[in-house]
Amino acid sequence: MNIYEQKAIPSIWVTWLSRLMADETQCVWSIWFRTHFKYEKLTTNFDSAKWNASHRTLVNDRINLLEAAGYTVYVEGENRFEVLGRDHLVRVAGKPDIVALKGDEAWVEDCKTGQRKNSDLYQMLIYLLLLPVSLAPCQGLCVQGRLIYRDEVVEIQAAQVNEDFRTQFRAAIAALSNPTPTRKVPSLHECHFCDISSGYCPERIENAPNQSIENHDLF
Ligand code: SF4
Repeated sequence: MNIYEQKAIPSIWVTWLSRLMADETQCVWSIWFRTHFKYEKLTTNFDSAKWNASHRTLVNDRINLLEAAGYTVYVEGENRFEVLGRDHLVRVAGKPDIVALKGDEAWVEDCKTGQRKNSDLYQMLIYLLLLPVSLAPCQGLCVQGRLIYRDEVVEIQAAQVNEDFRTQFRAAIAALSNPTPTRKVPSLHECHFCDISSGYCPERIENAPNQSIENHDLF
């Protein structure tokens, strides 16, 4: 049986928002459903043990480096934040890997072990927008960001949180928090990595459809 329960308030993780804003998800319904419902998740093909190990190594390397440079470092669970919308109809939550403070300097860092994606930038910009109002150690400070890749560190300035970004951010939240479901776009690739079972989503594609056509004279 597929049990699901409507959340008291639609709740959006920053990672979901950033994928939507970066246009990296075709099936927006999958994010809309997660925003509105608690459900039994499918085990996907993602190798989380391998990801956890390499991510942990990268985070630990950064902690050591920052502490050696005299920063006070806050890690993962210590950085969990939630921001309720003004009308209390939606909540945005996140958990950046590292927050580092020294004097009036505040940095938020997120460690990335996979392929670089545009959503990495959006994720950081959302942190820069929300952390100064939601995470106690950052309140009142101008927070700057760093994306930590294995071979490069990319700095993101607070000034990049401009009016265009804020407009896009508000539009993405409005789309996901709307009670009307967004469009469902089943595809083999996205369904393969989606944790929503066919019990909740009968359109889920499990196997590649045979779309090969041979008998034609087009080319
Ligand atoms: S299973 Fe496929 S169609 Fe259903 S929500 Fe997930 S990605 Fe969308």
